[in-house]
Amino acid sequence: MQLIRGIAVAPGIVIGRAFVLGESEQHVPHRTISKDEVSTESARLDAALAGAIHDLTQLKSRTELQLADGVGTEAAKIFEFHIGLLKDRSLLTPMRNRIETQLVNAEVAVAEQFKLLAQQFRSMGNEVFRQKANDVIDLDRRLLAQLMGETESRLSNLTEQVIIVAHELTPSQTAGMDRKKVIGCATDLGGRTSHTSIVARAIDIPAVVGCQRISAAVEDGDLLIVDGDTGVVIVRPDEQTIAQYRLQQEKFSEFRASLRQLRDLPATTTDGINVRLMGNIEFPHEVESILANGGEGVGLYRTEFLFLTAAKEPSEEDHYVAYTKTIDLLAGRPLTIRTLDLGADKYTQQRAIEPERNPFLGLRSIRYCLQNKPIFKTQLRAIMRASVHGPVKVMFPLVSTVMELREAKLILRDVCEELDEENVPYDHHVPVGIMVEVPSAALMARTFATESAFFSIGTNDLIQYTLAVDRGNEKVAHLYTGAHPAVLQLVKGVLRAGRRARIDVSICGEIAGEALYTMLLIGLGFRTLSLVPTQIPLIKRVIRSVDIKLCERLARKVGSFDSERQVISYLRDELRKIDPDNVGGWLAE
Ligand code: PEP
Ligand code: MG
Repeated sequence: MQLIRGIAVAPGIVIGRAFVLGESEQHVPHRTISKDEVSTESARLDAALAGAIHDLTQLKSRTELQLADGVGTEAAKIFEFHIGLLKDRSLLTPMRNRIETQLVNAEVAVAEQFKLLAQQFRSMGNEVFRQKANDVIDLDRRLLAQLMGETESRLSNLTEQVIIVAHELTPSQTAGMDRKKVIGCATDLGGRTSHTSIVARAIDIPAVVGCQRISAAVEDGDLLIVDGDTGVVIVRPDEQTIAQYRLQQEKFSEFRASLRQLRDLPATTTDGINVRLMGNIEFPHEVESILANGGEGVGLYRTEFLFLTAAKEPSEEDHYVAYTKTIDLLAGRPLTIRTLDLGADKYTQQRAIEPERNPFLGLRSIRYCLQNKPIFKTQLRAIMRASVHGPVKVMFPLVSTVMELREAKLILRDVCEELDEENVPYDHHVPVGIMVEVPSAALMARTFATESAFFSIGTNDLIQYTLAVDRGNEKVAHLYTGAHPAVLQLVKGVLRAGRRARIDVSICGEIAGEALYTMLLIGLGFRTLSLVPTQIPLIKRVIRSVDIKLCERLARKVGSFDSERQVISYLRDELRKIDPDNVGGWLAE
């Protein structure tokens, strides 16, 4: 039995078998196989070899055709060498032997054998041979990609329930998981507000990220306990531990069931102040989860997921269908559509012609849209067309200068003029607002307030840009907190600017769904919170247990602290007063 600590990102406890998902040659899934599986693994190796040889042969002929004589022939020779190596018995026989005698999966046999070969080439005195080590690494990657691509398809054809273990998961991989088969996940990398974690919470799969070395410590089929409340993963637990966790599982389900009874009750404080609880969604069907959890509408629709989960760029019709479906499901309730927030962790850098060195500070969100106007206009046309079907707001993400907002609004105006010319109906009064998620926007909130119909504070990004802490990096996760006085001062400034200009200020960062912050947020003056739908009942319960005077006092007190540690410990103490037994597990960090 081994206990691995990570970051708790999606609540609940699951006990199940591991499915190890390898992603790159550095993170080869290691599996001990039984004698019966030797033939299957050997067949997988053969299939991967055949696939790689097929791809290389195609590449070779394409290169010969496309490149000018001399160069083409030269380049084709490299592929010929690669194909030759993949047919070379002195390489293949030891690989097969590894599967048969060491009883390891094909990925391990390939990776180990190529490692050895690369070392041999490197140790040769001749420079030409040393260069060959790079060819070997290239081939190793190619073969592993064949094998792991097959692992991915294994993932989409699961026949039993599993817990996914991976070095890292992309948001789209997580979003594509079959909820009936994948019951939990644990990864080496990641932070509380990385999009993978957000999606895990949305689909309600207990998850622990930032475990650093779990993909190496776990083998396919190992029994695991994932505790998404405390951020612990137990590998190969003993009977006693399993029994303990089963008890906790029961407690958690009872607590969830008790929360469900709040569904149709308002989120009103004991002294009658109403707070609107809206949901954050990535896909239209999540509206069902908002309604089932007692939410009042969509405060943030992350439309870029439409882009991320499709093989090709979505058409205007694809956008339109998604938005009208969301509006239909909402049946008159409000919907805030955020325009594409592509980039950073939500636009695979592999797809870019030239990956950015600093994607979180790079061409993302509104910046990306302003430089890719056709994509932006396509989306805006679809939103405006859909606006005739229900109450819609448009929200621009990551605005950092007033000029960006003005340019985005101009493009929207162009789109509206085009629709006018085509006699296409749309709502002429769609409110246009911004996400405040960059310090420059927060500091300039008074200016932005004169040109925006509303603000929604995106603390996930605001925290990372204010504190210079990557939201997805487990190594600095201890520094990433919304309780930092600098973040809270910015939030207060935005609220103040909104109040002055009489525009709505809501919050849609993950802290809106963390019970620890609820009293503080409503004490500061928020009356609309937008959060992951599954957290709505928990937050409602906190709101229904407190009065506004208490929350305002708490907010004032928090304002007097100068360290995040003081803020957190004070908030915990106050929360403990509402739920002394911590049955909600909300005090666990
Ligand atoms: C945020 O940054 O707080 C936010 C809600 O947007 P996202 O998490 O999609 O970046
Ligand atoms: Mg953001």
